[in-house]
Amino acid sequence: MEEYDAVIVGGGCAGTSAAFFLKEYRPEMNVLLMDRLDGKNYDLYHRMCGEAVSEAAFRQLRPLRAEHVVHDINYVEEIWPGGVVMGIRHNGYVIDRPKFLRSVQGRYLAKGGIMEKDAVLSVQRENGRYTLSCSSGSKVAAKYLIGADGVNSRVRREVFGTEPPEVIWTEQYIVDKDLPSNKISFIQGPQYNGGYRWEFPAGKHARIGFPRGTDVVKEDIIEKHRRAIPTGGLDRITDGRCLLVGDAAAMPNPLTFGGIRAALVSGRKAAEAVLWDDPGTYERWWRPSLFNHPSFMRAYRQFAELNEEGYKESARMFGRGSLPASFFKAMLIYPKYRGLYMAYVRSAMVGW
Ligand SMILES: Cc1cc2nc3c(=O)[nH]c(=O)nc-3n(C[C@H](O)[C@H](O)[C@H](O)COP(=O)(O)OP(=O)(O)OC[C@H]3O[C@@H](n4cnc5c(N)ncnc54)[C@H](O)[C@@H]3O)c2cc1C
Repeated sequence: MEEYDAVIVGGGCAGTSAAFFLKEYRPEMNVLLMDRLDGKNYDLYHRMCGEAVSEAAFRQLRPLRAEHVVHDINYVEEIWPGGVVMGIRHNGYVIDRPKFLRSVQGRYLAKGGIMEKDAVLSVQRENGRYTLSCSSGSKVAAKYLIGADGVNSRVRREVFGTEPPEVIWTEQYIVDKDLPSNKISFIQGPQYNGGYRWEFPAGKHARIGFPRGTDVVKEDIIEKHRRAIPTGGLDRITDGRCLLVGDAAAMPNPLTFGGIRAALVSGRKAAEAVLWDDPGTYERWWRPSLFNHPSFMRAYRQFAELNEEGYKESARMFGRGSLPASFFKAMLIYPKYRGLYMAYVRSAMVGW
């Protein structure tokens, strides 16, 4: 049985980031990155996303930077019932996520990292180390185990025995539609059950998505995706020397559905905790972090309860004049929506 200093299960944003930072800072470390998919299936899985990441995310990820940028984004638009349209300047990117991930994995491999296609079926902990049984029939042992295996994380189920507090099923379409290449749009309304409809540019096409069954697309459909977004955070994300990152830890933001940044940053933080041989630092980073602020879930639940009138009322002060002035007026006039407004401000900081 092969033995590693660290095994990372799942080579998406969270796992690839963890693998990269482990080898970046300690090249002599013996690290295995494992994913159940490769080739076209891997690309297809990782295309099922809006692929929007903020510029701020990459400031937390240096020396990683935005690569394989398809669109430079500098504007975020919000369309609300009652004809309110809000826009803010916000820099970010729509990236080609499969290419971005392969590029980061290439840097990990160049430092001697090992990558294998296999699926973890079960995890056992004995004498302080983890033994993973895989679908190929092989077994591997690890001192540290990082669970980066997404919404249906096998590592989470086997080691922590928990499930995400909330799972939002979404459908997303790549359609024949020409959108401005510099902006991403969010359409709000009670029909989205607390969520929203997104319209992002995707090369010559557009990505349009919404919570499952809440809307339709009228354009010609090129690809259709269905995927779940786990959210709400977990009570614990470390157990002994096992650390959960990204979707496996239900980290996506329930207001924005953004999860790439939390996945990449948590991968880095988990790697740092492994390098310090102190998994507790990872849990201590996550608990009070803005990514994990309880106002996001409260706001998502409040939106899910709002009817058309409520949406219109909560947005009434916006759309005219400066955004900060509208925000302060709205905070004074509608105290019942203060939690929503504050969650929005925080989501602009960490939501994508
Ligand atoms: C429709 C949709 C649109 C989205 N749009 C955006 C967006 O625009 N911006 C944004 O920030 N976020 C977006 N998100 C959220 C974002 O996609 C996720 O939060 C992010 O991909 C999480 O990365 P991850 O590495 O934690 O998990 P994943 O990307 O799910 O990666 C998990 C990896 O683990 C592998 N794996 C699973 N099980 C096993 C196993 N047993 N053994 C081995 N390998 C395994 C999988 O093959 C996969 O490669 C969107 C999500 C959806 C569903």
